[in-house]
Amino acid sequence: MRILANQTLDKIGQEIELCGWIDKIRSHGKIIFLDLRDRSGIIQLVATNERIRVGLEDVVTVKGRVKKRPENLINPKLMTGTIEIEVIKLITLTIAKDLPFPINTDGYEINEEIRSKYRYLDIRRPRMIKNLRLRSQVTTFIRNFLTAQDFVEIETPLLTKTTPEGARDFIVPSRLQRGKFYALPQSPQQYKQLLMVAGVERYFQIVRCFRDEDPRADRAYGEFTQLDMELSFVSQEDILRLTEDMFTQVISKIFPDKYISQVPWPRIPHKIAKEKYGTDKPDIRKNKQDPNELAFSWTLDFPLFTQQSQKDYYYGSGNSKFAPSHHMFTAPHPDDVPLLEENPMKVRGLQHDLVLNGYEVGGGSIRIHDSKVQEKIFELIGFTPRQKQQFEHMLTAFTYGVPPHGGIAPGIDRFMMAVLGEPSVREVMAFPTSASGQTSVMDAPSQVTEKQLAELGLILGIN
Ligand code: ASP
Repeated sequence: MRILANQTLDKIGQEIELCGWIDKIRSHGKIIFLDLRDRSGIIQLVATNERIRVGLEDVVTVKGRVKKRPENLINPKLMTGTIEIEVIKLITLTIAKDLPFPINTDGYEINEEIRSKYRYLDIRRPRMIKNLRLRSQVTTFIRNFLTAQDFVEIETPLLTKTTPEGARDFIVPSRLQRGKFYALPQSPQQYKQLLMVAGVERYFQIVRCFRDEDPRADRAYGEFTQLDMELSFVSQEDILRLTEDMFTQVISKIFPDKYISQVPWPRIPHKIAKEKYGTDKPDIRKNKQDPNELAFSWTLDFPLFTQQSQKDYYYGSGNSKFAPSHHMFTAPHPDDVPLLEENPMKVRGLQHDLVLNGYEVGGGSIRIHDSKVQEKIFELIGFTPRQKQQFEHMLTAFTYGVPPHGGIAPGIDRFMMAVLGEPSVREVMAFPTSASGQTSVMDAPSQVTEKQLAELGLILGIN
């Protein structure tokens, strides 16, 4: 039966079987040293049989005997450096062509498009597979943490109706109802609020969100993953504390080399952040050269509205001055509600942004649960009656007993990028879309057939 490289150490003298890829080949006359790589690491094989013909990255299965290395040949850099495998039989299962780039470097020096085209090879690189493993440990930890605190993980639809969160939607044509479209969710915002009306009280979902925005280093094009959470009967304080507790534990359990430099996490009013740091996501690390320092902070007391501009085309009729700073479901600060009439730009929102080393890694708010206030916000944003109609389900749901509620949604990609000090979110994603919007390996977007278009009742215009 096949065992892993890291399971050989206590099997000295025994015959074992290994499978994996040929990572290195060194020939010393009649003796060949081969490094075999499997998911657990690397192990050295020694073959004296001249007929062994293998190439780098070939997939092999090996029968061999575990031997202790003489003291002077121990390799302290290798997990299995105290032993080696004397090859009895080696079978090549598949042969590998020369790889288009090296995989034993950290890979930053290689052109991103080529890395993306051959992502399945790029992931063989130790740094990449390590990042993906850590990411999996983080999401598993979070799932267990929240489940233990009585949260329920609930999936919400991906084929849905547009949720304006400040970005352009991806739309999907409907075949059954020609001429109509679904939108991929920018976030499950409305569904999670509806789940609060449903009495779930504590919801989370590790969920893909879709936004058709120009890519940046801290945002991949098209899609990203967030930890979406919503809670009923909570204050903003409860949400901040829970998030702080969860991420503090994530860091201490999964990234023991990292440390959080300021505890409790500083809470900075938006106005002060702007005045003191010139940004609402300040990098408050004490020593920016230190790769292990993590400086979390909260930005609070955002203004509820910003000045509406051209880019806010999806809100309202275009005649209003006000666009939501966060989104249209964020509650105004209770002390400021009268200002909604007198001076809306002065109203503070119960929004909280989570900042880590200068990146916004999450945002959330206490939500409006009073239909009248919600309608007032729609009005200030300048919603047309038709746009209001699109949110009728929220207002209707709120007439059947809605609990006060609020939530947050930390971005998993961005969190991983910031913690690991990676230069781009693409370094913590398996198959990220390139900066030009091309998907990894499969090269979408691609053309579809005339038949597919006809079924959807679509005719392509001029590009
Ligand atoms: N839906 C928000 C977002 O994706 C997060 C939230 O308000 O909970 O940014």
